[in-house]
Amino acid sequence: MTALSLKDVSIMLGDTPVLESINLHVKQGEFVSILGPSGAGKSTIFRLLTGAVPLQTGTISCASHEDSFAFMPQRDALMPWRRIIDNLTLGLEVQGVARKDARTQVMPLLADFGLADFTTHFPAQLSGGMRQRAALLRTIVQGRSIQLLDEPFGALDALTRTQMQTWFEDRWRAARWTTLLVTHDVREAVALSDRIYVLSQRPARVIAEIIVPIPRPRLGRPPSTQAHDIETQLLEILLHQTGERS
Ligand code: ADP
Repeated sequence: MTALSLKDVSIMLGDTPVLESINLHVKQGEFVSILGPSGAGKSTIFRLLTGAVPLQTGTISCASHEDSFAFMPQRDALMPWRRIIDNLTLGLEVQGVARKDARTQVMPLLADFGLADFTTHFPAQLSGGMRQRAALLRTIVQGRSIQLLDEPFGALDALTRTQMQTWFEDRWRAARWTTLLVTHDVREAVALSDRIYVLSQRPARVIAEIIVPIPRPRLGRPPSTQAHDIETQLLEILLHQTGERS
């Protein structure tokens, strides 16, 4: 069943065409990535889905309630003056859940996210990886059926990023959230996705749709030849696009 779809969506920001007739869909429980160069318009798709940018042309359909999105923005967006536990409950509190009840929902998940001993810390006292895990937990605990993740591992060093991706793959395999991930990292897209949409440079068009039929788990083991071949294919698509425009 299709959980979410964009049909012929085009957007101008000011005088700048940013999205050009974008068509994409995500099935329920599917992990789909949007891969493209920086500045292509990937975050703009999320801003449309979350209502931050109004729809101009085309249609967006969502099978579930319009409140079904949980959004993790590009930066971890933790509030520096709130302790970790109070950051984690924030999304629920915004939904109208009392802080005490929100804590009750967050508590059982803390150990799984490696945050059990850090609830009274402030964000600045945590490592980058821990802050990202906190931001993810805050997103996931909202119980929304669709996760929109904008470069959730982008700010991390290579080792932490690999650890976080492995950890996230495990969580996703258990929960099967409908997930739309924005990334400019070819390897990350191949490691995590069922399907990948490749965007052109701005104005963004979908220039390829690639299925990744590699069995899971994929991370925590040497990359397969199949993964390498798909990465090469994606890089060629992206490089060809760059060459065409420069
Ligand atoms: P990505 O997430 O792929 O890096 P974004 O969706 O953040 O890209 O931005 C897409 C493009 O839209 C960028 O090149 C940016 O310069 C442009 N852009 C964003 N906001 C505006 C605006 N208000 N007016 C004009 N151009 C904008």
